[in-house]
Amino acid sequence: MKRSAMKRSTKPMKRSRLKPRSKKMDKFYKEVRIPAVIQAVGDGKRPCPVKSQVCTHYVQGIHEVLSRGRAGGILVAHKPGNIIGTCHACNSYISSHPQWAKDNGWLVSNSEVTNDNKQTKPT
Ligand SMILES: [Zn+2]
Repeated sequence: MKRSAMKRSTKPMKRSRLKPRSKKMDKFYKEVRIPAVIQAVGDGKRPCPVKSQVCTHYVQGIHEVLSRGRAGGILVAHKPGNIIGTCHACNSYISSHPQWAKDNGWLVSNSEVTNDNKQTKPT
């Protein structure tokens, strides 16, 4: 059987960008997370409460006391009482020095909050 050569398009293949976030997460960021960060940062002159040895003194973002990984995701971790405004340096310092952070109350482990998080469903 005679076959003709496949036609090759000269145009580059059309490619779409990968979605950086799901629709649900995009909505969460736009409506909850970003406004919370803006509120926490304020005028950029709010003092960082952590004051680690690398502190840059002013709140630049938010830190979750019960981390996203431990809480079971950002949607769970992002709650009043669990988020505190910190500078980027302290936030990073907390992540890299968990024992120091626990000793100073900037990080809690799951075992300390498991009982509080357990909610019994009404029957
Ligand atoms: Zn700081």
